[in-house]
Amino acid sequence: MPYSQLLPWYDTHKRILPFRGTRDPYAVWVSEIMLQQTRTETAGGYFTRFLQRFPNVSALASANEQEVLKLWEGLGYYSRARNLHKAARLIVSEYGGCFPRSHDAIRALPGIGDYTAAAIASIAYQQPYPAIDGNLTRVLSRVHGIREDVDIPSVRRQIRALAEAHIDTVRPGDWNQALMDLGATICIPGTPDCARCPLQAQCDAQAIGDAELLPVRAAARPPVPVEVGVALVTCGDRILVQKRDAALLRGLWVFILNEGDSTSGGMRKKLRALGIPAHLAAEMGDARHVFTHRVWNMRIYHFIADTPLEKPACVWVNAQELSALPLPTAIKTAKAHALRLI
Ligand code: SF4
Repeated sequence: MPYSQLLPWYDTHKRILPFRGTRDPYAVWVSEIMLQQTRTETAGGYFTRFLQRFPNVSALASANEQEVLKLWEGLGYYSRARNLHKAARLIVSEYGGCFPRSHDAIRALPGIGDYTAAAIASIAYQQPYPAIDGNLTRVLSRVHGIREDVDIPSVRRQIRALAEAHIDTVRPGDWNQALMDLGATICIPGTPDCARCPLQAQCDAQAIGDAELLPVRAAARPPVPVEVGVALVTCGDRILVQKRDAALLRGLWVFILNEGDSTSGGMRKKLRALGIPAHLAAEMGDARHVFTHRVWNMRIYHFIADTPLEKPACVWVNAQELSALPLPTAIKTAKAHALRLI
């Protein structure tokens, strides 16, 4: 049995994390959503603050979206927060505030994919669903010597079938978490630390000596660069911000952005189109932010407006109000400039 040493290893070596040890499905859910795309060390602090403010589904459901986004500020991938909030409201309206128990009902909630549904069902309810993410895929591909592209659907199915066949049916949640820990600390990308691994005697990649080459993945496409002009439009001690409507960063507040053109001429044109009379005072420098599929190459400008004209979806805010709004990390350099200007 390739995994017979896994749970004994986990019982002695498991990581101590703020979100470990709970079987509360709500807490497991919040932690698993936070841990997607976020380092464990970063997620810990956010998790504690989030649970203090929203200790249960009902508390989250009755919050307003802006407060949820503000608590999420800095974590990125804000659709995760919007979906958490939406799903909490649905759990209240459809299930009377009780987190659903069935895997399919959990999987049907907004923002919950196969991985998260399996993690919640296994950790909170001890149901034998393998939580297959990048860590599990890497470990399984090495242990079972899978040397084909793991993103091909038939190979993905093969990995799922292996995980379903080997998951511990008595402690499925611990089995999943043990593999998460193993993948994060020992069977890491690149060169794994096989000498410390509880699976080494049964591991195909260790026997063959090609663990560093696994899992096989076709090269990911690099993110597309986008030029973005950022206008810090001030009027006295106030600055103009806009609530974003586009899919990327929806619901967050940004300065006036001109996506696709970062020149001063383009920025002037954009402000004219929005009906905001302002003159260019200074160029404030450049900034860069990498999203999953695109890179924003930003040029930041300071514009001064004579009057704070009211515009739809735009608000003039002072420094204190600016700090209270949820702003994406992508514009943190611009925000720092803005706070010096007002
Ligand atoms: S023996 Fe090495 S390659 Fe195999 S599972 Fe353990 S750490 Fe990964």
